[in-house]
Amino acid sequence: MLRSPVRRVLRRYSCPVGNSHGLQGRVFTYTDVTAETDVDRLKSEFVSMASHELRTPLTSVHGALQLALSGGGVGLNEEDRELLAISLANTERLVRLVNDLLDLSKIEAGRMPYSPEVLPVGTLLDEAARGMQALANLRGVRIAVEATSDGQRVAGDRDQLLRVVTNLLHNAVKYSPAGSLVRLGAVPQPDGVLVSVDDQGPGVPAEQIDRLFRPFSRVGVHERLTTGGTGLGLAISRAIVEQHRGRIWVERPPAGGSRFAFVVPGPAREDDPASSRAVA
Ligand code: ADP
Repeated sequence: MLRSPVRRVLRRYSCPVGNSHGLQGRVFTYTDVTAETDVDRLKSEFVSMASHELRTPLTSVHGALQLALSGGGVGLNEEDRELLAISLANTERLVRLVNDLLDLSKIEAGRMPYSPEVLPVGTLLDEAARGMQALANLRGVRIAVEATSDGQRVAGDRDQLLRVVTNLLHNAVKYSPAGSLVRLGAVPQPDGVLVSVDDQGPGVPAEQIDRLFRPFSRVGVHERLTTGGTGLGLAISRAIVEQHRGRIWVERPPAGGSRFAFVVPGPAREDDPASSRAVA
């Protein structure tokens, strides 16, 4: 019994109930998630503030290093030039990391600009494939776009959904051996459209599948140095897909490689993506 009004966050689940005569009604379950939501908010605020604070000095270090190396670093001896080039490359990685951290905290806090529209999936896939073509050429990997039927559409924010497809495609190309094929596909589903990225790379170990979409959940820590990634791409992709009320997962196809896939709702279910996640 509450003596005065208190703001509460409730998560609602609804489940249809029926018997042989058909649908009889729905069971609604409400869970009080106020404490979890508050902790999440505090965490996001801290990460967001820390990232902002880090970004300013980093930008100035980055600028200074670029200036020192401008014009090919004329006037520097070879050793100094090499040291500065290493510092610049690592500063660029730090900038990417800080930007990704900021983006993740914004998406999780629902502060990332979100402009829903109805989008043809084929266009998203083509655009992501075009953007990744240069890296694919460099690595000798072929990208094939295989949307099974034209005209499939999803409801969502164009930039954010493009970011998810691009992240998955980037990983697929990055982890694929030269001469292999990366397939980008889209098939209609009862609850939306399923987008998949298949590669012929090393695959993901079974024991890693559950935590792969958490921040910094690398399969091998040494990869951080060799691939130059931030370890946040999949966490950001999951946050975006969930904001769109979709789901994202990874599979280990029997023939090898990996399949990353996500489903996002089609236009018929389009409305405020946050509305069914929590009611205050
Ligand atoms: P990053 O690629 O920046 O390391 P991600 O969050 O995108 O971070 O990926 C997390 C980890 O998941 C990667 O470090 C890698 O170990 C694994 N991974 C992602 N995509 C693939 C893939 N297509 N094949 C094999 N492993 C992958």
